[in-house]
Amino acid sequence: MSDETKKHVMIGIVVACLLLAGTIMYNSFSDGGGGGGTGDRQIALMCAECGGFEVSVDEYREMMTQQGPEAMMMPGQMQAMECPKCGKKSCMPAQKCQKCENIFVFGQARDKNYPDRCPKCNYSEMEDFTQQ
Ligand SMILES: [Zn+2]
Ligand SMILES: [Zn+2]
Repeated sequence: MSDETKKHVMIGIVVACLLLAGTIMYNSFSDGGGGGGTGDRQIALMCAECGGFEVSVDEYREMMTQQGPEAMMMPGQMQAMECPKCGKKSCMPAQKCQKCENIFVFGQARDKNYPDRCPKCNYSEMEDFTQQ
């Protein structure tokens, strides 16, 4: 992998983290006023034991609270979280493909420069977004 490609991947991962954090923050805000803004929004997670699944924003926020501040996402050092299903520390934030609903971990398709590219159908929301 060339340095240039590595840089793209890094930037992509950081952007993905920011997007994810922003989404959660936005959702936290939007239901702070009691307006019930979270709706049925789901956060995708990938557990090494249980595979991919989704939790509600509330459940996810609870998970984050239990992890403590040191578990907040740092670019390049995302930590595994405790899985709400099996209780093991093998859960990572994941991405759900908009096209085929496959759940996967960011950056799985490493030879491509968009970390949110679905390894199954090759669709990348980020690529779609940047090309508009
Ligand atoms: Zn699990
Ligand atoms: Zn897909």
